[in-house]
Amino acid sequence: MTSVILKKSADSFIKRKHPWIFSGAIDKVEGNPFNGVTVQIFTSDKNLVGSGSYSPASQIRVRVWSFNPDDKIDSDFFRKKILNASELRKKIIDTSTTNAYRLINAESDGLPGLIVDRYSDFLSCQFLSAGAEHQKESVVEILQNIFKPAGIYERSDVEVRAKEKLEPVKGILNGKEPDDLIEIKENGLKFFVDIKNGHKTGFYLDQRDNRKSISEFAKGKKVLNCFSYTGGFSVYALSAEAEKITQIDSSESALDLSLKNFELNNLPRSSVENINGDVFEILRKFRDERKTFDLIILDPPKFAESVSQIQKASRGYKDINLLAMKLMNPGGILFTFSCSGHISQELFQKIISDAALDSGREVKIIKQLTQAVDHPVALNFPEGLYLKGLLCEVN
Ligand code: SAH
Repeated sequence: MTSVILKKSADSFIKRKHPWIFSGAIDKVEGNPFNGVTVQIFTSDKNLVGSGSYSPASQIRVRVWSFNPDDKIDSDFFRKKILNASELRKKIIDTSTTNAYRLINAESDGLPGLIVDRYSDFLSCQFLSAGAEHQKESVVEILQNIFKPAGIYERSDVEVRAKEKLEPVKGILNGKEPDDLIEIKENGLKFFVDIKNGHKTGFYLDQRDNRKSISEFAKGKKVLNCFSYTGGFSVYALSAEAEKITQIDSSESALDLSLKNFELNNLPRSSVENINGDVFEILRKFRDERKTFDLIILDPPKFAESVSQIQKASRGYKDINLLAMKLMNPGGILFTFSCSGHISQELFQKIISDAALDSGREVKIIKQLTQAVDHPVALNFPEGLYLKGLLCEVN
C-alpha cells in the first residue's frame, strides 16, 4: 500500500485529528499514489495513525478518512459513515414538514469532500475532493441501497474541483433524471427547486432555520429581501402576513422562480415587488429616494473566496449593512449574514458595529445566527462553520 510519512511538526495536527494534511506537513511519499487513492498515514517515528485520500495537485495533500489504523477504507466503511449521518438527520429533522435537507456534510460527517442533499425523492451530490471522486461509484451504490431515491444527480460543476485536478461535471448518476423543477417542503411551506441548474445543489438549505425565525417578525411589516434568490425568506415572511415585500436579486430566473413559489403557497403575488439588479446600487437609490422598511434581510453570496479577499469583502459587508440601517424605520429588524468562511463571527460583528456607528443608528444584537442544524460542525473541523448572522434591532 502507498503511504505518506509526516514531519515531526505534524504531530500536533494528528493529535487534534484535523482531517486536512497540508503538503508542507509531509516528509515523504512512498509508492507513487495517484489522484484520490487511499494512503496510509505514518508519523515521523513510523507509527501508523490512519488513512486518507491523496491529492497530489492540492495544497491539502491528504484528507483523512480515518484516524483509526485498523479501519479498512472499503464500502462497509462508507456505509457506516453514511448511516451515522442519516441517523443524526432523523434526530434533528421533522420529516413530516421538511423533506429537503443536507444528509452528508462532508468533513463534519467524517466524509471529506462529499456533500449529499436530499430533495424529496431525489439526492443531489457534490464530489469536491480527489478522494470523494475516487470513491464515487461505491458511494452512489450505497446511497441507492440505503435511501432508494428516485434518482441521484451530481452537481460537481464547481470551481473548487480544479484545485484537486478534477473537471467540473454534472448529470445523472443513478435512477431517473429529475424534472426541471421538483417540489419540496420546508417547515410546511412548499418550494420549487431546480436541482439541475439552481445554485449549489439547488437550494440554500443552510438558511432553513433562519428563514423560519423571520416568521416571528414579519406580520404587518414592509420587508426588503436583498439577495432573495428564489424567495426563500419572502415566502416565510408573506405566509406570516407581511404587508409588502420588495425583493432584489441579480438573477432574473431566480426572481421568476420566486413568483412560482408564492403561487405554490397561495400567497398574494400583488404584495411582492421584484427588482432585478445590483443590491449595492439599488440600496443607494432607495437611500436617495428616502424609502424605508421595517424588516430587512441581507443574505449576500460569499464575498471572501480567500484570505486575500478579507479586506475587500469586509468593505462590501459594511457598505450594504450601513445602507440597510439607514433605510430602516425605528424599531426595525435586520437579518444580516455572511457565508464567507474566512470572515469570523468576531470580525463580522465588528463590521456590523462599524456600520452601525457610521449610520448614526442605535443597533442591538437580539440573537446570533448560524447555519441550519443539518449542517453540523465537527469539533476537529472548525472550518465547517461558515454561515454566521446577526439578528438586530435598529433604532
Ligand atoms: N436568501 C436566499 C439565498 C441567497 S443566495 C435563500 O434563502 O434562498 C445569494 C443571491 O444573491 C443569489 O440569488 C445571487 O443571484 C444574488 N446576487 C449575487 N450578487 C448580487 C448582487 N450584487 N446584487 C443582487 N443580487 C446578487
